[in-house]
Amino acid sequence: MATDIRNSTPVTAHTTTGKVRPHQTQNEALVFEKSAPGKCAYKMPPLDVPAVDPAELLGDAHREALGLLPELSEIEIIRHFTRLSTWNYAIDLGMYPLGSCTMKYNPRVNEVVARIAGFAEAHPYRPSSHAQGGMEIIEQLQRCLLEITGMDAITLQPAAGAHGEFTGILLTRAWHESQGNPRRKVLIPDSAHGTNPATAAICGYQIENLKSNSDGGIDLGALARQVDFDTAALMLTNPSTLGVFENQIHKIADILHDKGALLYMDGANMNALVGKVRPGDFGVDVMHLNLHKTFSTPHGGGGPGAGPVACKAFLEPFLPIPVLVRNEDGTRHWDYDRPHSVGRVRAFYGNTGMFIRALAYILANGPDGLRQTTEDAVLNANYIRKKLEDLYELPYNTPSMHEVVFSDKRQAAHGVKTGDIAKRLIDYGFHPYTVSFPLIVQGALMIEPTESESVEELDLFIAAMRSIAREAEENPELVKTAPHSTRVSRLDEVQAARKPVLRWKPRENPHS
Ligand SMILES: *Cc1c(COP(=O)(O)O)cnc(C)c1O
Repeated sequence: MATDIRNSTPVTAHTTTGKVRPHQTQNEALVFEKSAPGKCAYKMPPLDVPAVDPAELLGDAHREALGLLPELSEIEIIRHFTRLSTWNYAIDLGMYPLGSCTMKYNPRVNEVVARIAGFAEAHPYRPSSHAQGGMEIIEQLQRCLLEITGMDAITLQPAAGAHGEFTGILLTRAWHESQGNPRRKVLIPDSAHGTNPATAAICGYQIENLKSNSDGGIDLGALARQVDFDTAALMLTNPSTLGVFENQIHKIADILHDKGALLYMDGANMNALVGKVRPGDFGVDVMHLNLHKTFSTPHGGGGPGAGPVACKAFLEPFLPIPVLVRNEDGTRHWDYDRPHSVGRVRAFYGNTGMFIRALAYILANGPDGLRQTTEDAVLNANYIRKKLEDLYELPYNTPSMHEVVFSDKRQAAHGVKTGDIAKRLIDYGFHPYTVSFPLIVQGALMIEPTESESVEELDLFIAAMRSIAREAEENPELVKTAPHSTRVSRLDEVQAARKPVLRWKPRENPHS
Protein backbone atom coordinates (compact mmCIF):
# COMPACT_ATOMS: atom_id res chain seq x y z
CA MET A 1 0.00 0.00 0.00
CA ALA A 2 1.30 3.43 -0.92
CA THR A 3 2.25 5.76 1.87
CA ASP A 4 -0.22 8.51 2.48
CA ILE A 5 1.56 11.45 4.04
CA ARG A 6 -1.57 12.40 5.94
CA ASN A 7 -2.23 8.96 7.30
CA SER A 8 0.58 6.47 7.19
CA THR A 9 -1.21 3.68 8.96
CA PRO A 10 -4.26 2.15 7.38
CA VAL A 11 -5.13 -0.22 10.21
CA THR A 12 -7.84 -2.45 8.87
CA ALA A 13 -9.25 -5.29 10.87
CA HIS A 14 -7.81 -8.66 10.02
CA THR A 15 -4.86 -7.56 7.93
CA THR A 16 -2.48 -10.11 9.30
CA THR A 17 0.90 -8.73 8.52
CA GLY A 18 3.31 -10.92 10.40
CA LYS A 19 6.01 -8.62 9.08
CA VAL A 20 7.44 -5.51 10.59
CA ARG A 21 6.31 -2.28 9.03
CA PRO A 22 8.90 0.41 9.76
CA HIS A 23 7.41 3.04 11.95
CA GLN A 24 6.87 6.13 9.87
CA THR A 25 7.44 9.49 11.37
CA GLN A 26 4.70 11.93 10.64
CA ASN A 27 4.81 15.48 9.56
CA GLU A 28 2.86 16.73 12.55
CA ALA A 29 2.18 20.06 10.87
CA LEU A 30 0.39 18.35 8.00
CA VAL A 31 -1.66 16.25 10.38
CA PHE A 32 -2.66 18.85 12.95
CA GLU A 33 -1.69 22.35 11.79
CA LYS A 34 -4.28 22.87 9.09
CA SER A 35 -5.42 26.33 10.03
CA ALA A 36 -5.00 29.23 7.59
CA PRO A 37 -6.25 32.79 8.07
CA GLY A 38 -9.64 33.63 6.64
CA LYS A 39 -11.00 30.14 6.09
CA CYS A 40 -14.30 29.27 7.65
CA ALA A 41 -16.84 26.50 7.52
CA TYR A 42 -19.99 28.61 7.59
CA LYS A 43 -21.01 32.13 6.68
CA MET A 44 -23.98 33.61 8.46
CA PRO A 45 -26.79 35.06 6.31
CA PRO A 46 -27.11 38.87 6.25
CA LEU A 47 -28.63 40.26 9.45
CA ASP A 48 -32.37 40.75 9.07
CA VAL A 49 -33.05 42.06 12.58
CA PRO A 50 -31.84 45.25 14.29
CA ALA A 51 -28.17 44.98 15.27
CA VAL A 52 -27.42 44.76 19.01
CA ASP A 53 -24.11 45.61 20.62
CA PRO A 54 -22.72 42.18 21.59
CA ALA A 55 -20.95 43.63 24.63
CA GLU A 56 -24.31 44.82 25.91
CA LEU A 57 -25.94 41.48 25.20
CA LEU A 58 -23.19 39.26 26.64
CA GLY A 59 -21.68 41.46 29.36
CA ASP A 60 -18.57 39.87 30.86
CA ALA A 61 -18.86 36.87 28.57
CA HIS A 62 -18.16 39.00 25.47
CA ARG A 63 -14.78 38.42 23.76
CA GLU A 64 -13.23 40.64 21.11
CA ALA A 65 -10.58 38.13 20.03
CA LEU A 66 -11.36 34.47 19.44
CA GLY A 67 -7.97 33.32 20.68
CA LEU A 68 -6.17 30.55 18.88
CA LEU A 69 -9.16 28.84 17.34
CA PRO A 70 -8.23 27.12 14.09
CA GLU A 71 -9.64 28.50 10.85
CA LEU A 72 -10.75 25.72 8.53
CA SER A 73 -13.25 24.86 5.85
CA GLU A 74 -15.97 22.30 6.50
CA ILE A 75 -14.44 19.55 4.39
CA GLU A 76 -11.10 19.93 6.16
CA ILE A 77 -12.79 19.51 9.51
CA ILE A 78 -14.76 16.48 8.34
CA ARG A 79 -11.65 14.85 6.90
CA HIS A 80 -9.60 15.61 10.00
CA PHE A 81 -12.00 13.96 12.39
CA THR A 82 -12.83 11.10 10.05
CA ARG A 83 -9.10 10.41 9.67
CA LEU A 84 -8.54 10.51 13.43
CA SER A 85 -11.38 8.01 13.88
CA THR A 86 -9.54 5.54 11.63
CA TRP A 87 -6.54 5.60 13.98
CA ASN A 88 -8.64 4.08 16.70
CA TYR A 89 -10.18 0.67 17.23
CA ALA A 90 -13.89 0.16 17.77
CA ILE A 91 -16.37 -2.60 18.44
CA ASP A 92 -17.80 -1.71 15.02
CA LEU A 93 -14.50 -2.83 13.43
CA GLY A 94 -13.97 -6.18 15.10
CA MET A 95 -13.87 -8.23 18.26
CA TYR A 96 -13.00 -6.35 21.44
CA PRO A 97 -12.12 -9.14 23.91
CA LEU A 98 -11.40 -6.84 26.87
CA GLY A 99 -12.18 -9.17 29.78
CA SER A 100 -14.33 -7.89 32.65
CA CYS A 101 -15.60 -5.07 30.41
CA THR A 102 -18.19 -7.03 28.37
CA MET A 103 -17.57 -5.06 25.18
CA LYS A 104 -20.61 -6.28 23.33
CA TYR A 105 -22.12 -4.89 20.16
CA ASN A 106 -24.34 -1.82 20.64
CA PRO A 107 -27.43 -2.69 18.57
CA ARG A 108 -28.58 0.08 16.23
CA VAL A 109 -32.20 -0.33 17.27
CA ASN A 110 -31.18 1.11 20.66
CA GLU A 111 -29.84 4.19 18.92
CA VAL A 112 -32.97 4.66 16.85
CA VAL A 113 -35.17 4.57 19.93
CA ALA A 114 -32.91 6.80 22.03
CA ARG A 115 -32.99 9.44 19.29
CA ILE A 116 -36.78 9.77 19.21
CA ALA A 117 -37.16 13.52 19.70
CA GLY A 118 -39.64 13.20 22.58
CA PHE A 119 -36.95 11.40 24.58
CA ALA A 120 -33.77 12.96 23.23
CA GLU A 121 -35.00 16.55 23.58
CA ALA A 122 -36.89 16.17 26.86
CA HIS A 123 -35.81 18.72 29.46
CA PRO A 124 -35.09 17.37 32.93
CA TYR A 125 -36.92 20.29 34.55
CA ARG A 126 -40.21 19.72 32.77
CA PRO A 127 -43.06 19.00 35.16
CA SER A 128 -44.00 15.39 35.84
CA SER A 129 -47.32 15.91 34.06
CA HIS A 130 -45.32 16.41 30.82
CA ALA A 131 -42.81 13.65 31.50
CA GLN A 132 -45.00 10.58 31.95
CA GLY A 133 -43.54 8.84 28.87
CA GLY A 134 -39.97 9.17 30.11
CA MET A 135 -41.06 8.09 33.58
CA GLU A 136 -42.75 5.04 32.11
CA ILE A 137 -39.45 4.06 30.45
CA ILE A 138 -37.68 4.34 33.80
CA GLU A 139 -40.43 2.35 35.52
CA GLN A 140 -40.38 -0.40 32.90
CA LEU A 141 -36.59 -0.69 33.00
CA GLN A 142 -36.68 -0.86 36.80
CA ARG A 143 -39.26 -3.65 36.60
CA CYS A 144 -37.19 -5.61 34.07
CA LEU A 145 -33.99 -5.27 36.11
CA LEU A 146 -35.77 -6.32 39.30
CA GLU A 147 -37.09 -9.40 37.50
CA ILE A 148 -33.62 -10.21 36.13
CA THR A 149 -31.86 -9.76 39.49
CA GLY A 150 -34.58 -11.11 41.80
CA MET A 151 -34.24 -8.06 44.04
CA ASP A 152 -37.00 -5.91 45.61
CA ALA A 153 -36.09 -2.27 44.97
CA ILE A 154 -33.80 -0.33 42.65
CA THR A 155 -32.31 3.06 41.79
CA LEU A 156 -31.09 3.92 38.29
CA GLN A 157 -29.28 7.07 39.39
CA PRO A 158 -25.58 6.04 39.55
CA ALA A 159 -23.65 6.86 36.38
CA ALA A 160 -21.14 3.97 36.38
CA GLY A 161 -20.34 0.65 38.00
CA ALA A 162 -17.98 2.22 40.52
CA HIS A 163 -20.62 4.86 41.26
CA GLY A 164 -23.13 2.05 41.82
CA GLU A 165 -20.75 0.39 44.28
CA PHE A 166 -20.43 3.69 46.13
CA THR A 167 -24.22 3.99 46.30
CA GLY A 168 -24.65 0.36 47.38
CA ILE A 169 -22.11 0.67 50.20
CA LEU A 170 -23.73 3.96 51.28
CA LEU A 171 -27.01 2.03 51.61
CA THR A 172 -25.19 -0.66 53.58
CA ARG A 173 -23.70 1.95 55.88
CA ALA A 174 -27.00 3.78 56.35
CA TRP A 175 -28.72 0.51 57.26
CA HIS A 176 -26.03 -0.48 59.79
CA GLU A 177 -26.28 3.04 61.27
CA SER A 178 -30.02 2.59 61.61
CA GLN A 179 -29.25 -0.57 63.60
CA GLY A 180 -27.07 1.52 65.92
CA ASN A 181 -23.55 0.81 64.56
CA PRO A 182 -22.12 1.51 61.08
CA ARG A 183 -19.42 -1.15 61.75
CA ARG A 184 -15.83 -0.68 60.62
CA LYS A 185 -14.69 -3.12 57.96
CA VAL A 186 -15.53 -4.49 54.55
CA LEU A 187 -14.12 -7.79 53.31
CA ILE A 188 -12.81 -7.94 49.76
CA PRO A 189 -11.43 -11.02 47.96
CA ASP A 190 -7.95 -10.75 46.42
CA SER A 191 -9.51 -11.34 42.98
CA ALA A 192 -11.65 -8.16 43.21
CA HIS A 193 -11.77 -5.31 40.73
CA GLY A 194 -9.81 -2.31 42.04
CA THR A 195 -12.95 -0.22 42.32
CA ASN A 196 -14.23 -2.43 45.19
CA PRO A 197 -11.57 -1.49 47.78
CA ALA A 198 -11.66 2.12 46.54
CA THR A 199 -15.42 2.18 47.16
CA ALA A 200 -15.16 0.72 50.64
CA ALA A 201 -12.42 3.19 51.55
CA ILE A 202 -14.31 6.24 50.29
CA CYS A 203 -17.33 5.12 52.33
CA GLY A 204 -15.12 5.19 55.43
CA TYR A 205 -14.46 1.46 55.82
CA GLN A 206 -11.27 -0.43 56.52
CA ILE A 207 -10.56 -3.06 53.91
CA GLU A 208 -9.76 -6.59 54.88
CA ASN A 209 -8.35 -8.80 52.17
CA LEU A 210 -9.80 -12.28 51.71
CA LYS A 211 -7.52 -14.89 50.10
CA SER A 212 -8.96 -17.05 47.33
CA ASN A 213 -8.83 -20.85 47.53
CA SER A 214 -7.09 -23.06 44.95
CA ASP A 215 -10.14 -22.91 42.64
CA GLY A 216 -10.04 -19.11 42.65
CA GLY A 217 -13.18 -18.95 44.81
CA ILE A 218 -13.94 -17.82 48.35
CA ASP A 219 -12.33 -19.96 51.05
CA LEU A 220 -15.28 -20.62 53.36
CA GLY A 221 -13.06 -21.43 56.35
CA ALA A 222 -11.12 -18.18 55.98
CA LEU A 223 -14.37 -16.27 55.52
CA ALA A 224 -15.90 -17.74 58.68
CA ARG A 225 -12.78 -16.78 60.64
CA GLN A 226 -12.72 -13.23 59.31
CA VAL A 227 -16.39 -12.22 59.57
CA ASP A 228 -17.32 -10.73 62.92
CA PHE A 229 -19.73 -8.19 64.38
CA ASP A 230 -17.53 -5.38 63.03
CA THR A 231 -17.91 -6.56 59.42
CA ALA A 232 -20.30 -4.36 57.45
CA ALA A 233 -20.24 -6.38 54.22
CA LEU A 234 -18.42 -8.64 51.84
CA MET A 235 -18.05 -7.23 48.32
CA LEU A 236 -18.10 -10.16 45.95
CA THR A 237 -17.95 -10.38 42.18
CA ASN A 238 -19.90 -13.37 40.89
CA PRO A 239 -18.83 -14.91 38.63
CA SER A 240 -15.44 -13.79 39.87
CA THR A 241 -12.91 -11.93 37.78
CA LEU A 242 -11.51 -15.36 36.89
CA GLY A 243 -14.83 -16.08 35.20
CA VAL A 244 -15.55 -18.68 37.90
CA PHE A 245 -18.99 -19.05 39.47
CA GLU A 246 -19.06 -19.10 43.29
CA ASN A 247 -21.01 -22.31 43.72
CA GLN A 248 -20.97 -21.94 47.52
CA ILE A 249 -22.68 -18.57 47.32
CA HIS A 250 -25.56 -19.65 49.62
CA LYS A 251 -23.14 -20.64 52.33
CA ILE A 252 -21.18 -17.41 51.89
CA ALA A 253 -24.42 -15.46 52.41
CA ASP A 254 -25.30 -17.52 55.50
CA ILE A 255 -21.89 -16.94 57.12
CA LEU A 256 -22.27 -13.19 56.62
CA HIS A 257 -25.89 -12.98 57.71
CA ASP A 258 -25.19 -14.95 60.90
CA LYS A 259 -22.99 -12.05 62.00
CA GLY A 260 -25.34 -9.34 60.75
CA ALA A 261 -23.08 -8.50 57.79
CA LEU A 262 -24.42 -7.92 54.28
CA LEU A 263 -23.52 -9.52 50.95
CA TYR A 264 -22.75 -6.91 48.28
CA MET A 265 -22.51 -8.31 44.77
CA ASP A 266 -20.49 -6.54 42.11
CA GLY A 267 -22.77 -7.37 39.18
CA ALA A 268 -20.41 -6.27 36.41
CA ASN A 269 -20.27 -9.90 35.30
CA MET A 270 -24.03 -10.40 35.01
CA ASN A 271 -23.61 -11.28 31.34
CA ALA A 272 -22.91 -14.78 32.59
CA LEU A 273 -26.06 -14.98 34.72
CA VAL A 274 -28.97 -13.13 33.07
CA GLY A 275 -31.91 -15.49 32.57
CA LYS A 276 -30.17 -18.37 34.37
CA VAL A 277 -29.91 -17.45 38.07
CA ARG A 278 -30.91 -14.42 40.11
CA PRO A 279 -28.67 -12.88 42.80
CA GLY A 280 -31.78 -12.10 44.88
CA ASP A 281 -32.40 -15.87 45.07
CA PHE A 282 -28.91 -16.76 46.27
CA GLY A 283 -28.63 -14.42 49.25
CA VAL A 284 -27.37 -11.12 47.83
CA ASP A 285 -28.58 -8.05 49.78
CA VAL A 286 -27.43 -5.29 47.45
CA MET A 287 -25.74 -5.19 44.06
CA HIS A 288 -25.01 -3.01 41.07
CA LEU A 289 -25.41 -3.66 37.37
CA ASN A 290 -23.45 -2.13 34.51
CA LEU A 291 -25.92 -1.22 31.78
CA HIS A 292 -22.88 -0.37 29.61
CA LYS A 293 -21.65 -3.94 29.95
CA THR A 294 -24.48 -6.42 30.32
CA PHE A 295 -27.21 -4.40 28.63
CA SER A 296 -25.36 -3.25 25.51
CA THR A 297 -25.22 0.51 26.04
CA PRO A 298 -21.98 2.05 24.74
CA HIS A 299 -18.86 2.43 26.86
CA GLY A 300 -17.16 5.50 25.60
CA GLY A 301 -14.36 7.52 27.10
CA GLY A 302 -15.51 6.49 30.56
CA GLY A 303 -19.15 7.27 29.93
CA PRO A 304 -21.95 8.01 29.85
CA GLY A 305 -22.56 4.79 31.71
CA ALA A 306 -25.22 3.61 34.09
CA GLY A 307 -24.75 1.59 37.27
CA PRO A 308 -28.19 0.83 38.73
CA VAL A 309 -28.27 -0.48 42.30
CA ALA A 310 -30.78 -3.15 43.29
CA CYS A 311 -31.43 -4.13 46.88
CA LYS A 312 -33.62 -6.17 49.19
CA ALA A 313 -36.69 -4.55 50.78
CA PHE A 314 -34.98 -3.72 54.09
CA LEU A 315 -32.58 -1.37 52.28
CA GLU A 316 -35.29 0.36 50.25
CA PRO A 317 -35.88 3.30 52.67
CA PHE A 318 -32.24 4.36 52.15
CA LEU A 319 -32.31 4.58 48.32
CA PRO A 320 -31.23 7.90 46.76
CA ILE A 321 -33.89 10.53 46.18
CA PRO A 322 -35.99 11.02 44.19
CA VAL A 323 -37.80 7.69 43.93
CA LEU A 324 -40.35 7.08 41.18
CA VAL A 325 -43.82 6.25 42.58
CA ARG A 326 -47.19 5.47 41.05
CA ASN A 327 -50.19 7.67 41.83
CA GLU A 328 -53.59 6.11 42.35
CA ASP A 329 -54.72 7.22 38.88
CA GLY A 330 -51.83 5.33 37.27
CA THR A 331 -49.66 8.38 36.59
CA ARG A 332 -46.26 8.73 38.27
CA HIS A 333 -44.40 11.32 40.34
CA TRP A 334 -40.97 11.75 41.90
CA ASP A 335 -40.99 11.31 45.68
CA TYR A 336 -38.45 13.46 47.54
CA ASP A 337 -40.00 12.96 50.96
CA ARG A 338 -37.84 10.09 52.14
CA PRO A 339 -36.31 10.84 55.53
CA HIS A 340 -33.94 7.85 55.54
CA SER A 341 -32.56 8.39 52.03
CA VAL A 342 -28.79 8.67 51.55
CA GLY A 343 -29.60 11.74 49.41
CA ARG A 344 -28.81 12.33 45.78
CA VAL A 345 -25.86 10.64 44.14
CA ARG A 346 -26.26 12.36 40.79
CA ALA A 347 -28.06 15.24 39.15
CA PHE A 348 -31.59 14.45 37.94
CA TYR A 349 -32.38 10.72 37.52
CA GLY A 350 -29.23 9.33 35.95
CA ASN A 351 -28.19 8.91 32.31
CA THR A 352 -31.68 8.50 30.88
CA GLY A 353 -30.44 7.99 27.31
CA MET A 354 -28.80 4.80 28.57
CA PHE A 355 -32.04 3.64 30.17
CA ILE A 356 -33.83 3.90 26.83
CA ARG A 357 -31.08 1.90 25.12
CA ALA A 358 -30.98 -0.77 27.82
CA LEU A 359 -34.75 -1.18 27.80
CA ALA A 360 -34.73 -1.42 23.99
CA TYR A 361 -32.11 -4.16 24.26
CA ILE A 362 -34.08 -6.08 26.92
CA LEU A 363 -37.38 -5.84 25.04
CA ALA A 364 -35.79 -6.66 21.67
CA ASN A 365 -34.33 -9.86 23.14
CA GLY A 366 -37.16 -10.86 25.44
CA PRO A 367 -36.68 -13.43 28.22
CA ASP A 368 -35.65 -16.26 25.87
CA GLY A 369 -33.31 -14.02 23.91
CA LEU A 370 -31.58 -12.81 27.07
CA ARG A 371 -31.11 -16.39 28.25
CA GLN A 372 -29.73 -17.35 24.84
CA THR A 373 -27.35 -14.37 25.03
CA THR A 374 -25.98 -15.64 28.33
CA GLU A 375 -25.54 -19.14 26.96
CA ASP A 376 -23.79 -17.87 23.83
CA ALA A 377 -21.45 -15.65 25.86
CA VAL A 378 -20.44 -18.65 27.99
CA LEU A 379 -20.15 -20.91 24.94
CA ASN A 380 -17.91 -18.41 23.12
CA ALA A 381 -15.54 -18.07 26.09
CA ASN A 382 -15.29 -21.85 26.44
CA TYR A 383 -14.71 -22.26 22.69
CA ILE A 384 -11.69 -19.95 22.97
CA ARG A 385 -10.52 -21.77 26.09
CA LYS A 386 -10.61 -25.17 24.36
CA LYS A 387 -8.87 -23.89 21.22
CA LEU A 388 -6.04 -22.18 23.10
CA GLU A 389 -5.42 -24.28 26.20
CA ASP A 390 -2.73 -26.37 24.50
CA LEU A 391 -0.62 -23.23 23.88
CA TYR A 392 -1.47 -20.93 26.79
CA GLU A 393 -1.28 -21.83 30.47
CA LEU A 394 -4.58 -22.15 32.35
CA PRO A 395 -3.85 -21.21 35.97
CA TYR A 396 -7.26 -22.36 37.22
CA ASN A 397 -8.96 -25.42 35.86
CA THR A 398 -12.38 -24.53 37.24
CA PRO A 399 -15.04 -24.34 34.49
CA SER A 400 -15.18 -20.94 32.80
CA MET A 401 -18.28 -18.83 32.53
CA HIS A 402 -18.31 -15.81 30.19
CA GLU A 403 -14.56 -15.13 30.26
CA VAL A 404 -11.39 -17.17 30.36
CA VAL A 405 -8.15 -16.25 32.10
CA PHE A 406 -4.84 -17.64 30.85
CA SER A 407 -1.34 -16.77 32.03
CA ASP A 408 1.78 -15.95 30.00
CA LYS A 409 3.86 -18.58 31.85
CA ARG A 410 4.91 -20.51 28.73
CA GLN A 411 5.62 -17.41 26.63
CA ALA A 412 7.44 -15.70 29.52
CA ALA A 413 10.03 -18.49 29.23
CA HIS A 414 11.00 -16.78 25.93
CA GLY A 415 10.86 -13.31 27.48
CA VAL A 416 7.43 -12.54 26.02
CA LYS A 417 4.94 -11.12 28.53
CA THR A 418 1.17 -10.74 28.47
CA GLY A 419 1.51 -7.05 27.52
CA ASP A 420 3.65 -8.01 24.49
CA ILE A 421 1.12 -10.58 23.29
CA ALA A 422 -1.64 -8.02 23.71
CA LYS A 423 0.25 -5.44 21.65
CA ARG A 424 1.01 -8.00 18.94
CA LEU A 425 -2.73 -8.74 18.76
CA ILE A 426 -3.22 -5.17 17.53
CA ASP A 427 -1.16 -6.05 14.43
CA TYR A 428 -3.62 -8.85 13.73
CA GLY A 429 -6.53 -6.41 13.80
CA PHE A 430 -7.90 -7.06 17.28
CA HIS A 431 -8.23 -4.94 20.36
CA PRO A 432 -6.12 -6.41 23.17
CA TYR A 433 -7.64 -8.55 25.88
CA THR A 434 -7.34 -7.33 29.50
CA VAL A 435 -3.69 -7.44 30.57
CA SER A 436 -2.35 -8.40 34.04
CA PHE A 437 -5.77 -8.60 35.70
CA PRO A 438 -6.95 -10.25 37.89
CA LEU A 439 -3.91 -9.64 40.06
CA ILE A 440 -3.99 -13.13 41.58
CA VAL A 441 -2.82 -14.51 38.22
CA GLN A 442 0.79 -13.68 37.40
CA GLY A 443 0.89 -12.40 33.80
CA ALA A 444 -2.86 -12.71 33.21
CA LEU A 445 -4.52 -12.73 29.79
CA MET A 446 -8.20 -12.13 30.47
CA ILE A 447 -10.36 -12.82 27.43
CA GLU A 448 -14.08 -12.11 27.12
CA PRO A 449 -15.51 -12.53 23.63
CA THR A 450 -19.17 -11.86 24.54
CA GLU A 451 -22.08 -13.35 22.60
CA SER A 452 -21.75 -10.76 19.84
CA GLU A 453 -19.07 -12.72 17.95
CA SER A 454 -19.68 -15.26 15.23
CA VAL A 455 -17.70 -18.48 15.11
CA GLU A 456 -15.84 -17.05 12.09
CA GLU A 457 -14.64 -14.05 14.10
CA LEU A 458 -13.71 -16.28 17.05
CA ASP A 459 -11.69 -18.48 14.68
CA LEU A 460 -9.79 -15.45 13.37
CA PHE A 461 -8.99 -14.43 16.93
CA ILE A 462 -7.89 -17.95 17.82
CA ALA A 463 -5.71 -18.13 14.70
CA ALA A 464 -4.09 -14.82 15.70
CA MET A 465 -3.42 -16.03 19.25
CA ARG A 466 -1.97 -19.32 17.98
CA SER A 467 0.22 -17.49 15.51
CA ILE A 468 1.50 -15.18 18.26
CA ALA A 469 2.30 -18.18 20.47
CA ARG A 470 4.43 -19.53 17.60
CA GLU A 471 6.11 -16.17 17.10
CA ALA A 472 6.89 -16.00 20.81
CA GLU A 473 8.95 -19.18 20.40
CA GLU A 474 10.51 -18.53 17.01
CA ASN A 475 10.92 -14.77 16.90
CA PRO A 476 10.28 -13.27 20.34
CA GLU A 477 11.69 -9.88 19.29
CA LEU A 478 8.84 -9.47 16.81
CA VAL A 479 6.31 -9.80 19.61
CA LYS A 480 8.27 -7.76 22.13
CA THR A 481 8.45 -4.77 19.78
CA ALA A 482 4.82 -4.91 18.61
CA PRO A 483 2.65 -3.22 17.50
CA HIS A 484 4.19 -2.63 14.09
CA SER A 485 1.10 -1.51 12.22
CA THR A 486 -0.22 1.39 14.26
CA ARG A 487 0.40 5.09 13.94
CA VAL A 488 2.24 5.17 17.24
CA SER A 489 4.08 2.20 18.64
CA ARG A 490 4.89 1.70 22.32
CA LEU A 491 4.10 4.67 24.48
CA ASP A 492 5.75 5.63 27.72
CA GLU A 493 3.06 4.25 29.98
CA VAL A 494 4.50 5.80 33.15
CA GLN A 495 4.57 9.28 31.62
CA ALA A 496 1.14 8.70 30.14
CA ALA A 497 -0.24 8.00 33.61
CA ARG A 498 1.73 10.66 35.50
CA LYS A 499 1.84 13.50 32.99
CA PRO A 500 -0.90 12.79 30.50
CA VAL A 501 -1.16 15.05 27.45
CA LEU A 502 -4.89 15.07 27.06
CA ARG A 503 -5.34 17.51 24.21
CA TRP A 504 -3.50 18.98 21.29
CA LYS A 505 -2.48 22.59 21.78
CA PRO A 506 -1.90 25.04 18.93
CA ARG A 507 1.48 26.64 18.46
CA GLU A 508 1.60 30.10 19.99
CA ASN A 509 1.07 31.74 16.62
CA PRO A 510 -0.58 29.28 14.26
CA HIS A 511 0.03 31.47 11.22
CA SER A 512 3.72 32.23 11.74
C1 LIG B 1 -16.19 -2.66 35.03
C2 LIG B 1 -16.17 -3.18 36.41
C3 LIG B 1 -16.42 -2.33 37.50
C4 LIG B 1 -16.56 -0.82 37.38
O1 LIG B 1 -17.51 -0.37 36.47
P1 LIG B 1 -17.34 1.10 35.82
O2 LIG B 1 -18.61 1.32 35.09
O3 LIG B 1 -16.14 1.00 34.92
O4 LIG B 1 -17.13 2.07 36.92
C5 LIG B 1 -16.47 -2.90 38.75
N1 LIG B 1 -16.26 -4.21 38.94
C6 LIG B 1 -16.01 -5.06 37.92
C7 LIG B 1 -15.81 -6.53 38.19
C8 LIG B 1 -15.95 -4.57 36.61
O5 LIG B 1 -15.69 -5.40 35.60
